Amino acid sequence: MEIVVLRLGHRLERDKRVTTHVGLVGRALGARGMLLTSEDKGVERSINRVTKQWGGDFFVQTGVRWSEAIKNWKQEGGKVCHMTMYGENILDVIDEVREEANKKNARIMVVVGAEKVPYEVYEAADWNIAVGNQPHSEIAALALFLDYLQQGKELKTKFEHAELEIVPKRKGKEVKIRE
Ligand code: SAM
Repeated sequence: MEIVVLRLGHRLERDKRVTTHVGLVGRALGARGMLLTSEDKGVERSINRVTKQWGGDFFVQTGVRWSEAIKNWKQEGGKVCHMTMYGENILDVIDEVREEANKKNARIMVVVGAEKVPYEVYEAADWNIAVGNQPHSEIAALALFLDYLQQGKELKTKFEHAELEIVPKRKGKEVKIRE
């Protein structure tokens, strides 16, 4: 399964930190990359720096037109999950999404917003999914969705080509450094 995050409505400066966290959560929890509708090279650089040190091949693409990205994704057979508090409760749809995601060559796009999300996104999505029907955060919604979808397996992922790797410890800190 390939998972890609589409981050909509990123406002330069104001959303820098949150969007960086959307990318870091996506990377850490099993997504292949993040498409960002703004042209924010600062966010791209921060996430790429983390990937260089901590491994894996997470990509960030900026300046993406969301309507084209969604259209192309669907044309290529991908499915679109839009995270919104107005959607169906995740507990009621996650089995259906997982069944689709476990098919051969499945591709799942996870859309998260910042400010108001255009109505067309609700229409284009295969699922509008609420992580509870209360307003909270795109970072939390993304994290919980990825975890429910992959049933925790993503937490054991080994990241290839890492310069830094943590040796898990009950107490203290140990980091392996590779040249
Ligand atoms: N009123 C906005 C809306 O249209 O959903 C809330 C914006 S919220 C600050 C930013 C993003 O967080 C939303 O676009 C959505 O992706 C995500 N989000 C917030 N609460 C959520 C929830 N309960 N379930 C799923 N996603 C949520």
